[in-house]
Amino acid sequence: MAVDLRKLILALALLGAFLPFANTLHASYQVQRQQLMDSTLEGNLAYATKLAKSTDDFIQSAQLQLEYTAQLLVGQMGDAEKLGTEAARLRLMSKSFNSIVIFDDTGKVLATSPETLQLQGRILASAAVKESIRSRRPLISKPYLSATGNFIVLMVSPIRDPQGGFLGAIGGAIHLQKENILDRLLGQHFYHDGSYLFVVDGEGRIIYHPDGNRIGKVIRGNRAVDEVTHGGSGTASVVNSKGIPMLAGYAPVAATGWGVIAQRPRDVTLAPLTSLMRTVFFKTLPLAAVTVLLLWWCARVIARPLHMLADGARTMDQPETTQNIRSVRSWYFESRELKKAMLLGIGLFQKSITKLREDVNTDPLTGLGNRRHLQARLQELQERAMPFALVSLDIDHFKQVNDTWGHDVGDLVLKQLAMHMQDVSRVDDAPCRVGGEEFLLLLPGASVASAAQVAERLRQQVERASMAPVGQVTVSLGVAGWPESGQDVAAVFKRADEMLYAAKRGGRNRVEFSASPA
Ligand code: GH3
Ligand code: MG
Ligand code: MG
Repeated sequence: MAVDLRKLILALALLGAFLPFANTLHASYQVQRQQLMDSTLEGNLAYATKLAKSTDDFIQSAQLQLEYTAQLLVGQMGDAEKLGTEAARLRLMSKSFNSIVIFDDTGKVLATSPETLQLQGRILASAAVKESIRSRRPLISKPYLSATGNFIVLMVSPIRDPQGGFLGAIGGAIHLQKENILDRLLGQHFYHDGSYLFVVDGEGRIIYHPDGNRIGKVIRGNRAVDEVTHGGSGTASVVNSKGIPMLAGYAPVAATGWGVIAQRPRDVTLAPLTSLMRTVFFKTLPLAAVTVLLLWWCARVIARPLHMLADGARTMDQPETTQNIRSVRSWYFESRELKKAMLLGIGLFQKSITKLREDVNTDPLTGLGNRRHLQARLQELQERAMPFALVSLDIDHFKQVNDTWGHDVGDLVLKQLAMHMQDVSRVDDAPCRVGGEEFLLLLPGASVASAAQVAERLRQQVERASMAPVGQVTVSLGVAGWPESGQDVAAVFKRADEMLYAAKRGGRNRVEFSASPA
């Protein structure tokens, strides 16, 4: 089944209408999406940078506080009570540390705040404490599990006498898994839309995270973390530990080698765009529907004349086709020309069909009906059960005409006889030539008696006429009728022939008829 023109036009028009629209929609989506993502990334970078700076400032001021207190402690190292007071003062007033510890040059704890740590007299063996005793310099430790079981970052400042002798050190601990200074510094910047920030140390270990359970975990394979632990700052699209795509900005904390990473779920950033696109889509829908309807209608109007002409082409032999094609509204050039050509073609076609039908039923020499024509007419009458009469005719001594004048003149006589037969026939009568010089005249609705009168009239007319160049020619005729002369058509034919022979036997140039069966 071939696709029709209407569907083709419709498909083409829809393609032409909606492809550019879809393209525009897609392009504007892509551009806006990139803009939204870029601005979020930039915002997160600025934010991470600001908080990295705040953290850096805090670390430096905490370091100064420790150093200042360390100076105060010179000459007090033997007085545990005094040391305890200073430790408490630093912890409570600065609010920078969760706990303070003062130890001597062997790592033995001299005082703590709060005292509940119960570390007095114990030797601290953590890597951070050992390192501070070895280097005798200020340091900030990696996160580690302290002697009291806390996960901490320890900031240490050495205590030296005026001659530079090393007396011990004071350490301030930030308890990463408890409420601490980082919470106060960073925690209020936690948003409801899924944005958050976290801090890692130089090895990618989380030291601050809004989800406390993640503190202490090491992050691997995250581009932002990889970059920031190498001191870089910038932006990256990453996937967080829960598999959510995030837009991250990151910046390092110079004093410690830590990194601050601020990030926002990509979907949250893009949500307004998605809803915008949805709105655009639904607002466009009614107009799109109208457009489709309009296109459908146009396709129909354009394709219709050609469709109807094609229909006509398929049924060229049907009589109603001409009328159908004439009624096609061919409103544009191609259809008008096709319509004209088809009407012309069909006219010629039907003329030759009609001619062909006539030829098939016509005797070419005389123009009378032939035996096929006679059969068809009889069939008709039989179907309608209409009575009829048959006149069978044969030329007398025709052989002599042929012998004397030749075959061509004989044919001339046949033609003239045919004219006489037509002359005595009415419209519905069927004069036929059924053999060489044998003729039949079918008279629908006629009785044998009235047919005999017609036969007699014909006989007289032929007898009187002069058939050039032969002169006088006579005919013999036999008449029978249905249903008078027989039950079926064959019997009636037979009866008419019998009557014809009777006329021949009776001396020729006469009519014989019979109203009754043989
Ligand atoms: P009858 O009075 O007994 O009919 O004598 P007839 O000579 O007419 O005999 P018949 O009817 O048997 O003759 C038939 C002749 O008709 C034979 C043939 O020469 C002639 N004939 C048959 N068909 C044609 C034809 O198509 N053209 C011509 N010119 N002559 C034909
Ligand atoms: Mg004959
Ligand atoms: Mg004859």
